[in-house]
Amino acid sequence: MAYIYIETFGCQMNEADSQYIADRAAASGYAMTANAAEASVVVLNTCTVREGAERRAYGRMAHFKALKRADPSVKLVVCGCLAEQDRDTMQAAAPHLDGVFGTRELARLGDALAAWRPSFDDDHSLADERLLLEPLGGHADCVGDPYAHVRTFVTVQRGCSYYCSFCIVPHVRGRFDNRPMDDILAECRVALARGGRELTLVGQTVNAYKEPANGADFADLLEAVHALDGLDRLTFLTSHPKDYTPKLAATMGSLPSLNPRFHLPVQSGSDPILRRMNRKYTVAQYREKIAAFRAHCPGWALTTDLIVGFPGETEADFEATLAFCDEIGFAQAFMFVYSPRRGTPAAHWEQIPPEIGGERLRRLAATIDRGVRAWHERKRGRIVRALVAGPSRKDRSKLAAKTIDNVTVVAPAGSLRESELRTRPWLDVRVDDAFTWGCVGTILGIAERYDGVAHPVDARSTIDLISSRFHERQTADAAPA
Ligand code: SF4
Repeated sequence: MAYIYIETFGCQMNEADSQYIADRAAASGYAMTANAAEASVVVLNTCTVREGAERRAYGRMAHFKALKRADPSVKLVVCGCLAEQDRDTMQAAAPHLDGVFGTRELARLGDALAAWRPSFDDDHSLADERLLLEPLGGHADCVGDPYAHVRTFVTVQRGCSYYCSFCIVPHVRGRFDNRPMDDILAECRVALARGGRELTLVGQTVNAYKEPANGADFADLLEAVHALDGLDRLTFLTSHPKDYTPKLAATMGSLPSLNPRFHLPVQSGSDPILRRMNRKYTVAQYREKIAAFRAHCPGWALTTDLIVGFPGETEADFEATLAFCDEIGFAQAFMFVYSPRRGTPAAHWEQIPPEIGGERLRRLAATIDRGVRAWHERKRGRIVRALVAGPSRKDRSKLAAKTIDNVTVVAPAGSLRESELRTRPWLDVRVDDAFTWGCVGTILGIAERYDGVAHPVDARSTIDLISSRFHERQTADAAPA
């Protein structure tokens, strides 16, 4: 068997692209592996949104050189935003690469996989020699795994036309390019037919979606996907405040299978900074959007992105961000110190000293973490239904799963087998403890469907896992404190 190993860095768009690569590989006869040492093809799907992501990607390229040394027939390819940005220099910097594919060349990568496949001997295995890779460590944001099919990313739109002054995306992925709704629905049907439990509609600015032929908007698309037979859960990433309309808020509140989690990046709580970022909304407008969201979607988790140390950010600007975060009470936030990206306007402006950026990040994290921890604490003692994600990174005897409001829960796998979880991927987990990063607990049952009856994993378990009771628990789980 020829195996393909895919490491993904960065955002949901890259995860969706990795899924496309995995599908093309499967069609050519490859099997996915989560172990690079047994792969015939290693794919690094890279990100360039921050300097750290670039460094990690180049580090991984150097790391995988050992694979080529042990077995020159192994193919090592790089794709994604960094490949697009550095396409002219990457191959020279890393001559051991077998291919560099930009963001619009995924089909060409799929063709290369098909062309390479016959050259791999099916008995070929040099895993022992390649074990030398393991001690070198290093992690991608995501590695293709045996449960990848239960959680499907469906790209609804590529690129972005908003040109935030800090962002490289429009430069490496181009302007908005919306897919026809019929194509999106067809892809969703295929994902559901092969066992997908949760669909995530992805776009860099997903709620700006407009059907190219008839102008149907993102709310219309959500309704159409929600109506598909066999859908368990639906969610979407990432939204822009500018395109969050009253219609979308009302639609979100009306769709019972939509996950109770909304990610709406605010980036800063200061109007002068939002203007310099070219974000196209004010703090007051963001606040209004949240009021509409909460009116239609009470008890949902609201998550966000924040950048500190942006050029021109004064202490007063930063204090405004802190106060705004305190006021809103985000259930989670992805926080970053601004890092200049080549080719973007903000990279040419006077920069904030890194030590100030670092200190602001620590203060912001302390504020955000209080809200995050409180959100997780609400789950303590409750039974939550969560979709399996794979073995825990820190302890492979444990399973990690995600609740429908996107909280990580980790629990001992016990005697559960991968084959069972592939068909019953929903875990009923009693939450025993809560932390800032997520929760730990005990798996009581596994279920085929989100609304289905759970099968107890322990014969001594007396807990009632009947679906009607389960619903009550989920409602309570999503309710505000
Ligand atoms: S909205 Fe701004 S931050 Fe988001 S992808 Fe577009 S340019 Fe980048």
